[in-house]
Amino acid sequence: YQGLAGRSTNEILQLYAAHGQQMKLQRSSVVTQLHGAIKKKLKQDLKSLHSFALELSKDFQRQSKTCLYRVLAAIQGIQLQNEAMQMFQIKAFDLEQTLQEVTERYEKEKQKRKALHNSLIELRGNIRVHCRIRPLLPFDDAAGHSVSQDRRRNFSEKAAYAADDETVLVKCSRPGHASVNKTFQFERVYNDLESQDAVFADVAPLLTSLLDGYNVCIMAYGQTGSGKTYTMLGPQLEGNLAFSIEEESELGIIPRATQEVFRLISEKPPGSYWVEVSVVEVYNNEIFDLLAKDSYGKMFGVKRDVVTTRDGKSDVPLLTHETVENASEFLHLFNKGLQLRVTHPTLVHAHSSRSHLVVTLTITTVVFGDNFGTLWEDEQTSQRLNKEASCTFPQKMRDNKSTSSSRASSPVQLEATEKMKQVKTRLQLVDLAGSECVGMSGVTGAALRETSFINRSLSALADVLGAIAEQRAHVPYRNSKLTHLLQDSVGGDAKLLVMLCISPGQKYLTESMQSLGFGTRARQVQRGQVKKKNFPMPSKGK
Ligand code: ADP
Ligand code: MG
Repeated sequence: YQGLAGRSTNEILQLYAAHGQQMKLQRSSVVTQLHGAIKKKLKQDLKSLHSFALELSKDFQRQSKTCLYRVLAAIQGIQLQNEAMQMFQIKAFDLEQTLQEVTERYEKEKQKRKALHNSLIELRGNIRVHCRIRPLLPFDDAAGHSVSQDRRRNFSEKAAYAADDETVLVKCSRPGHASVNKTFQFERVYNDLESQDAVFADVAPLLTSLLDGYNVCIMAYGQTGSGKTYTMLGPQLEGNLAFSIEEESELGIIPRATQEVFRLISEKPPGSYWVEVSVVEVYNNEIFDLLAKDSYGKMFGVKRDVVTTRDGKSDVPLLTHETVENASEFLHLFNKGLQLRVTHPTLVHAHSSRSHLVVTLTITTVVFGDNFGTLWEDEQTSQRLNKEASCTFPQKMRDNKSTSSSRASSPVQLEATEKMKQVKTRLQLVDLAGSECVGMSGVTGAALRETSFINRSLSALADVLGAIAEQRAHVPYRNSKLTHLLQDSVGGDAKLLVMLCISPGQKYLTESMQSLGFGTRARQVQRGQVKKKNFPMPSKGK
């Protein structure tokens, strides 16, 4: 500033301008330098970025190639797996078909074996034994069993199973012992899920036999509560010994058998068959006629007796035989008879299983014409049947004979009527009393008496079967009213089916084993070929 002193303003202005110029020049050279440096740096960065990007893209290419290879390998693997899967599918299909063929062949063989077995049964006169295992029911859990060692068992556990449709498997476990499996074979075994339909399906062919001229007897055997009444009748009505007719799918063998008999009859020429029913209860070794009526037509149980006729058959004189025209008529009559059981004055038992129930359907076949002349078993039977025809011919048929003048006036018809014959076949359906070996402690008075009568009658039944099995000359039918009443079915010419009923619980092991033993012994009884009643030759056009 000292230099500026004394200088003129112009000079000073010039000096400022020169200084500004110089500063400008200096600044622009710095900017140029800076620009160059930045440019250089940018170039370097760009270069390294470029090389980095290049590296990255190469890496990406490498990786994507690897991935592609892997994907291709995976696809190939899947294709191979698919092919293998298809092969397996084809193999599985082939195996399935083979299995189906084998099953079909097995079923055919089984049917053949069954048919042969049936023929063998027929030839030997074997007793058929079916076994039904009922489901576990809420009351199976209830306590109150008298045998003390049984308390240690697990009551709700199952001990009896259907291993297949011909085998029962029983797990016998005793405290302190390893459990042992025992098997029992029967003609048919029903598991706990099998319906009343399934049971009846196996019974139905016997009814065809009935109309073909065979006597048939079906009896349910088993301890109390094992399902005998359920199987024979159906579920019982609450507090009543009658059963529900409305629940068709639940109906048991007796109502279904009746329906089937009437269905089969409906396919025959009208008027050639009629059905009579008797309902009998065996209680404390006494026989009660449950269809007997007093002089006012009111039904009341009447004591009857069983006798042996001159030709060695058993017969109940004065037993009520009601003619029924259809199944529902039978059911109403039968249910009335059952209700009578409840109010029977001599009965002290509240449970149906304290007595044996025997329902008999007698089917009479009427034949007109002379094409049967020589077919009767013997002259004596023929005479007896003719005599029976005149006494027991139902009112309706007798009325027909007397009132149908057009029929009687025709000489051919008249001759046919004269030559009319009848053949009787019998279907006996039996709901036996409970077979349990009741512990006697605590049972006194009437109950004790009942139990001893039941035990005696069932052991009489076992004795009869034993005597037949051993072909003893004397069969002790008369040891009990039950065996005397059933003599013709058990020892005679009837096709006999025993329906063993089993409670599955551990609790009932002893009783179940007893029933299975009874069934096994019954199966071994050979009674000789079952005889067909001599039916007339069917005339042409029937
Ligand atoms: P039992 O006549 O042998 O003394 P029940 O037929 O009275 O025995 O059966 C006892 C109980 O078990 C009844 O309540 C009956 O309804 C039931 N029951 C029996 N068998 C069966 C079954 N297969 N399915 C369902 N319930 C059954
Ligand atoms: Mg019963």
